[in-house]
Amino acid sequence: MPPVSHSAGVVSFEDARRIVAQHAARVLARETESVDLLSATGRVLAEPILADRDFPPFPRATRDGYALRVQDIGRVPAQLALVGEIKAGAIPDGSFTVNPGQAVSIMTGAPLPPGADAVLMVEYTAQSGSTVEIKRTVKSGENYVPRGAEARQGQMLLDRGTRVDHAAIALVASVGKSRLQVFRKPRVAVLATGDEIVEIDHDPGPSQIRNSNTYSLAAQVQNAGGEPVLLPIAPDERVRLRALIEQGFDSDLLLLSGGVSMGKYDLVEQVLGELQAEFYFTGAQIQPGRPIVFALCTLPERAGVPAPLIHEKYFFGLPGNPVSTMVTFELFVRPMIQALSGEAPQPLIFLKARLKSDVRTKTGLKRFLPAVLSGEFETAEVELAHWQGSGDIAALAGANCYLVIPPDRQQISAGEWVSVMMR
Ligand code: AMP
Ligand code: MG
Repeated sequence: MPPVSHSAGVVSFEDARRIVAQHAARVLARETESVDLLSATGRVLAEPILADRDFPPFPRATRDGYALRVQDIGRVPAQLALVGEIKAGAIPDGSFTVNPGQAVSIMTGAPLPPGADAVLMVEYTAQSGSTVEIKRTVKSGENYVPRGAEARQGQMLLDRGTRVDHAAIALVASVGKSRLQVFRKPRVAVLATGDEIVEIDHDPGPSQIRNSNTYSLAAQVQNAGGEPVLLPIAPDERVRLRALIEQGFDSDLLLLSGGVSMGKYDLVEQVLGELQAEFYFTGAQIQPGRPIVFALCTLPERAGVPAPLIHEKYFFGLPGNPVSTMVTFELFVRPMIQALSGEAPQPLIFLKARLKSDVRTKTGLKRFLPAVLSGEFETAEVELAHWQGSGDIAALAGANCYLVIPPDRQQISAGEWVSVMMR
């Protein structure tokens, strides 16, 4: 593995994405498991999927109509002799060779008979007895797919590293596989920090806050294809925090929430420094989520743990403010989980919508502001949610997307097309 080195500091959004992508390219998913096709959605292929035969395996009619020879219908209307019928599933045994002047009735999905070089849709014909009247011409090769045109036997249909969705499932089913080799889901430890944070089954004191980040992060980890490992809340106390961080390094990736802003008791960076962590960035020029930390910790060798990969662990120190935690996960953590799952990090997906009312901000930060998207396609509209800042989970829950504001924009007027990131 080539070393990747960056000086820590506050970086632009683009640099932060690039740095994560460079590190993501170094991680390797290795362990695999076999899963049933029905539980494979969202998993990442650890084996290529090959065509077990030609696709389609026979020249397949794509319309109901008549298989015929195009040179017989140079002039229309024309009359052809009807010599048979081929249904989908019929065995192409050669009993229906189409000779000059002949046509065969054919159904969608049926094999084109020898001699025919096109299918004419039934709408452009009239049948009376054993004669078919042809009212329109058709080009050679129309309305059927030649054998092997979609894929040749042995050809790779899906590569290792593909995330399985319903379209991939269709392909896997069509090559006759009911089980798949996929990569093991990465284990992602989630550690919330803060003296004011209490577990959700505890009664919070007047100045305490229930722990929501552990659960929102666990949900995001699951959604990204990882297996969340929930750690107990770490107090703002060095020894206990360090013990829990070390426990977190038993997983493939560690996510901390809280304790990474510049507060006096924000010990995360300090403890990670003690653990010889290498920091790649300690902030990004975004809002919300500016105080985000990305680093690597090289752990002392341990008996029974194969070197060198296993004792190098990446971690993110995510800001504690719940909205910031969620946004920074989408922007920076998801690509790392994708890589640990065996998939190449995927680009962020944006859509465009018209801004419903004017927005004013300060320049300098790329902003991902909770917003409400309504309408579809040409009528898509987006409006900022009314929020009280990065702690406002009620506003976020009522929103359904983020309005993305480039760092050089101070004012965006209603009616402008703007970028929206779905969540
Ligand atoms: P910090 O990043 O630790 O300074 O925390 C920033 C804000 O987020 C504070 O108001 C915290 O109370 C809040 N916060 C931190 N951790 C959590 C958590 N696990 N669940 C809910 N709110 C949190
Ligand atoms: Mg804190």
